[in-house]
Amino acid sequence: MKVIVAKTAGFCFGVKRAVDQVYRQIEEGKKPIYTYGPIIHNEEVVRELAEKGVRIVETEEELRKLKEGTVIIRSHGVPERIYRLIEAQGLEMIDATCPFVKKIHRIVQSHSAEGREIVIIGNDGHPEVEGIKGWCSTPVTVIGEEAEAEAFLREPHPAICVVSQTTFNYKKFDKLVEIISKMRYDKLDILNTICSATEERQSEARQIAGQVDSMIVIGGSHSSNTRKLFEICKKECANTYHIQTLKDLDIRRLPSRGCVGITAGASTPNNLIEEVSKQCQI
Ligand code: SF4
Repeated sequence: MKVIVAKTAGFCFGVKRAVDQVYRQIEEGKKPIYTYGPIIHNEEVVRELAEKGVRIVETEEELRKLKEGTVIIRSHGVPERIYRLIEAQGLEMIDATCPFVKKIHRIVQSHSAEGREIVIIGNDGHPEVEGIKGWCSTPVTVIGEEAEAEAFLREPHPAICVVSQTTFNYKKFDKLVEIISKMRYDKLDILNTICSATEERQSEARQIAGQVDSMIVIGGSHSSNTRKLFEICKKECANTYHIQTLKDLDIRRLPSRGCVGITAGASTPNNLIEEVSKQCQI
């Protein structure tokens, strides 16, 4: 079987930077080490870090109980109040927020300060979106579906600033912005803050899925960018399978001849991609 592995599969710059930061703290012998939320949406990596003593703080309440240690902020970023809380607790903070996400925090903070409402094109409840909300001082609306964009038009909004979750689907962003733009605003700024790593990963996945007999998308079950990759590939190739690790791969479902494509979400380590690729070639 021929195997095509996407060049853009696996860790993006921001995720690699965050994971490297955690390993650096371990090497430096820091104890205890906490990450605010799992450092990435990959259960294998999180388990490996747990074995090395890295603990996960899930909520602000848990954070409030910490008396010592190092807290690492993951690439998704966090609301501004979490920085204040870590400082107030006297904990060491390592900020591994991806610089592209940090840029969105600065954009919404400054536009909010001018009195504009903020629209985030993204999935409500996603940690990155929750983080962005936490830098806004004016009303925020999260729009992820066309019906939500239509509903937004029912109320007047004099001045708005539109940004996007970095991992949002590019075409869907255009569609939602087209709907929002039907309204007249005194001030309207639309900033496409989708990360180019996401865009490149999605378009390469679409292109490979369109030419193979089967497509495998590797990534964590909670990874939104993996789910989006799966949606994109499934549209192009009906035989698209989402797996988290090699254990989930049912090789019998793949054609014995022909071509299989492989891509992976931003939280998927390279060794996992290589294992799956090798297994497909056996
Ligand atoms: S997808 Fe882009 S914005 Fe998100 S962590 Fe990776 S490099 Fe940063």
